[in-house]
Amino acid sequence: MEIADQRVVYIHYILTDDSGETLDRSEKESPLAYLHGAGNIIPGLEKALSGRSRGDKLAVTITPEDGYGVRDDALVQQVPRRLFNGIPDLQVGMQLRADSDHGPRVVTVTKILGDMVTIDANHSLAGQTLHFDVEIADVRAATEEEMVHGHVHGAGGHHH
Ligand code: ZN
Repeated sequence: MEIADQRVVYIHYILTDDSGETLDRSEKESPLAYLHGAGNIIPGLEKALSGRSRGDKLAVTITPEDGYGVRDDALVQQVPRRLFNGIPDLQVGMQLRADSDHGPRVVTVTKILGDMVTIDANHSLAGQTLHFDVEIADVRAATEEEMVHGHVHGAGGHHH
């Protein structure tokens, strides 16, 4: 079965950056499961996997535009520290969930200087060229429920 929309795909993958450093990888015995055509994974990877089948191995290089986007300086903000009064041990590198005009998103604390805190709402992989080594472990038809939910159920996917 080929990879196409409304099919569930299981992949083993290793993600590295331009310097060859591993950023992420699937767990050894449990491949990542995603619903093809539902925006579950970044567009560049979805495009590269289209039409492939079980057992295929591929190396894909993905530009920021087809990955987690380019960095947007407008998403970097300085805010008063008192907004974080509920977090006594606020530190650089901490990731927090914050409400924004575009709904809840994860922001990273990048600087704390006196009473001002700099937060960055860019995805941590924004602006990065991504290198994926992928092996397709399996492809199956999605169930009706999975299509309605827009994600995979069971091993490697959602449990709810
Ligand atoms: Zn579901």
